[in-house]
Amino acid sequence: MSPIEPSELQGAGLVPPEPLIFEMSSPGACGASLPPQDVPELDAWSVIPSELLTDESPPLPEVGECDAVRHFTRLARRLFSVDGNFYPLGSCTMKYNPKINERASAMPSLANLHPYQPEEDVQGILGMLHELRAALAEIAGLAEVSLQPSAGAHGEMTGLMVINAYHRDHGGVRPKVLTPDTAHGTNPASCAVCGRHATVVASQPDGRVDMADLAKKIDEQTAALMITNPSTVGVWDGQIREIAKILHDHGAMLYLDGANMNAILGIVRPGDVGVDVMHYNLHKTFSTPHGCGGPGAGPIAVAGHLSEYLPVPQVIRRDDGTYAWDSDRPKTIGKVRSFYGQIGVLIRAWTYIRALGPDGLRDASEKAVLSANYLAARLSDVYHFPFAGPYAHEFIMVPEFRDYGVTELDVAKRLIDYGVHPPTMSWPIAHCLMIEPTESESLGTLDAFVEAMRAIARDAKERPELLHHAPLTMPVNRLDEVTAARRPDLRWRPPEAASGGAADRGGPSQSS
Ligand SMILES: *Cc1c(COP(=O)(O)O)cnc(C)c1O
Repeated sequence: MSPIEPSELQGAGLVPPEPLIFEMSSPGACGASLPPQDVPELDAWSVIPSELLTDESPPLPEVGECDAVRHFTRLARRLFSVDGNFYPLGSCTMKYNPKINERASAMPSLANLHPYQPEEDVQGILGMLHELRAALAEIAGLAEVSLQPSAGAHGEMTGLMVINAYHRDHGGVRPKVLTPDTAHGTNPASCAVCGRHATVVASQPDGRVDMADLAKKIDEQTAALMITNPSTVGVWDGQIREIAKILHDHGAMLYLDGANMNAILGIVRPGDVGVDVMHYNLHKTFSTPHGCGGPGAGPIAVAGHLSEYLPVPQVIRRDDGTYAWDSDRPKTIGKVRSFYGQIGVLIRAWTYIRALGPDGLRDASEKAVLSANYLAARLSDVYHFPFAGPYAHEFIMVPEFRDYGVTELDVAKRLIDYGVHPPTMSWPIAHCLMIEPTESESLGTLDAFVEAMRAIARDAKERPELLHHAPLTMPVNRLDEVTAARRPDLRWRPPEAASGGAADRGGPSQSS
């Protein structure tokens, strides 16, 4: 992880060129050998409507198997992934995903099950789901769990539907839901989806809920407060019991956004501090590979007074020890997705929880918190920390190099040259970087990250132009953030084709 001198990079093209597969095409080359035809040949024009046919062959690349395999293997090596690189993304826990989880969820006896199979055929998976339900209820300190929701945001929606159903049964509809100003965007969005109005509660300068503002905003129209604790700025709000009491005194519920459970597993049980409903992001806390729209699961846990409203069907254990799907719940909000939930993700979470056990889960959270506070302590003299520690599993820091024309974006992009995935930027406050190292990184990786961040801070002052062009070791450097996504230009150009060598390669104009 040593810094790269810009002179080494001028037009060097450290990553060898990779042509497009179309450019590799040579007429007649073929990667597949098909068996002799054993059905009668038909003329396409006689069986397919003519408006769907064309005289021209599709412009597909023609390459041999070896060339195709190598082309895609080379491209795959360029991927940034949590298996290849440190990923200190804040907010969305991106921890290493133990491979045993993948083995379990890919076992043919589990992966090939069909949701229409009769209960007596699938007792094994029902038993696993029942056990996962019990484990998540125990970790939450709450009465019952629904495994159905497919993501954190989906869990929020389901939780709010449960809360709304409760209020409808107890005094009538409550139109208002409170969300702190540090809330994740999905919180107010879930309120809107559930026909509720999100009202913002201010935070104190230390990132905790402003109790005076809460007292002002709460009334008998309030259905719930949705809190993220530890909050999105990485601090634990120790006022949580007091917050719960204020809500309960007004007949409202406390909803916990459990995206940050990685900080408190086995340390605090949300139900013990007054939470009525929470969701888990199994893909974050319980180690399923996610991102880029990958699969997730967002089970919710609820207190006893809300159990009867949970989605159906619910997996239950009968007195004779067998498992079944139970739909006999007159007050249920119904189903929130097809079938039973995101089973592959649920199996990964079950495996992770069983592999670590209660002590292992607590140990993971303690290490996640220790890692975050270690990084913060080692960086606090070169970056600005707007919220005081101690931190939970993540923290926010602000690169203050505006006098040198260096922004948080420049710092984040430069990290790529050190093999580190850029952290979350400018959220939940402007110009910040949000760092979450997770429990899985070694001290060596954490120290290398510290050295990289310190070197970047030095370069920001001494050679800011270097940061303006970072990353310098990638096939392209600084893309136009908008057009790169909307009008991607996937063509590689040799360095001499771009004006001025490495520094200019991949500039915004390239994506036109
Ligand atoms: C990730 C996250 C969510 C949304 O969860 P998804 O599983 O992505 O739908 C909600 N709140 C917070 C604080 C989060 O970090």
